[in-house]
Amino acid sequence: MSTEVLAASATDVQQASASAPAQSNTAEKVNLLGMSRPQMEKFFEDLGEKKFRAGQVMKWIHQFFVTDFAEMTNISGKLREKLEKICEIKAPEVVHKNYSKDGTRKWVFRVGDGEGSLVETVLIPAEDKTGSRKTLCISSQVGCALDCSFCSTGKQGFQRDLTQAEIIGQLWMANYSYMEDVPVIERERSVTNVVMMGMGEPLLNYDAVLNAMRIMLDDFAYGMSKRRVTLSTSGVVPKIDQLAQDIDVALAISLHATNNELRDELVPINKKYPLEQLIAACQRYIGKGGNESARKHVTIEYVMLDGVNDHPEHAQQMIKLLKNLPSKINLIPFNPFPHAPYGRSSRNRIISFQKTLSDAGFVCTIRQTRGDDIDAACGQLVGQVADRTRRAEQWKKKVAAQNEIIRSQG
Ligand code: SAH
Ligand code: SF4
Repeated sequence: MSTEVLAASATDVQQASASAPAQSNTAEKVNLLGMSRPQMEKFFEDLGEKKFRAGQVMKWIHQFFVTDFAEMTNISGKLREKLEKICEIKAPEVVHKNYSKDGTRKWVFRVGDGEGSLVETVLIPAEDKTGSRKTLCISSQVGCALDCSFCSTGKQGFQRDLTQAEIIGQLWMANYSYMEDVPVIERERSVTNVVMMGMGEPLLNYDAVLNAMRIMLDDFAYGMSKRRVTLSTSGVVPKIDQLAQDIDVALAISLHATNNELRDELVPINKKYPLEQLIAACQRYIGKGGNESARKHVTIEYVMLDGVNDHPEHAQQMIKLLKNLPSKINLIPFNPFPHAPYGRSSRNRIISFQKTLSDAGFVCTIRQTRGDDIDAACGQLVGQVADRTRRAEQWKKKVAAQNEIIRSQG
């Protein structure tokens, strides 16, 4: 299966560039794709236009996937012309896409100017008793500064924050991928759930992530239910409190260890915000949610590392740690990557860990590893991307060194 998908990739790249919105030479134009409604309303008011135009344009962009102002038929010709001159609607460039037979889809985007950097987005379909879901795993940064020892993104180091347009552009493109051949008026959104669980720590790119999530919830854009938008963090405590003030979305915590000693090693931000502070912040987050809130519980993510955090005593510690926190636990089989210092816990280990937690009354699921065949599994997002980025970096260094030699030789 993987060979077949990979073999298709060269054509995919060409198709991708043909179907993506024009990558024109318009750097000075304002990209409307990433604007939240208040931001776009202000933009229109500053142009001397009525602010309700913002809602109209947002619908065209995010509900009908239109990138050409000429197609926005409820907007006067004069305004369309004006917009064409100064604005654009531009999603990040797709350099590679892979559609697996199990329905998993993966895109590699180029972000930034010139050679730029690469980030990945993965869509995972699922059927359950609530119907069929399409969950999109969105990246928020290129690389990550937090350096968790089991995470390939962390190993890449931090490169840069994604912009609002680059974050929401991932959702735009995933939806658009189902709509490319559908007439504009029949287009509808396909992605049902978003998890901010791709590359990067979303709470360290706070404003851009917040505004992008506002666009996800906005009825003039994606109109997603707040329970279906989940932000995952490794535990930037002050930002969890700020999030509680700013927006109502579901929260997931990358726990991965049940005592400070081990967590300091696996998730180094624990040295700054240890477990007691993290759990208290989660309790405050839940406390802020009203009845209609997305915050009835937090999701606890726990990657199962063979012989490291998967002993029965760790399950017992988890029961104590979470006893006053409404939570659902998701056990994630570790996804190995080259030079990873860990292995995946055995199936039996994971099942007995789950049983201990279930017997103690917790809802505890084991994450299915899907999309392994296209490197789309959690924690593998970096894979070939990192390789290419490294190669690009090496190339840049080589060119800089050569320039230096040329300069020094006069
Ligand atoms: N920075 C955020 C969101 C991105 S990581 C966070 O840490 O929560 C998304 C999830 O993938 C986290 O739970 C993370 O711990 C997990 N993850 C990272 N590397 C992994 C790997 N190699 N195998 C399995 N899960 C991994
Ligand atoms: Fe960053 Fe999350 Fe990876 Fe930790 S697990 S290095 S916080 S992306």
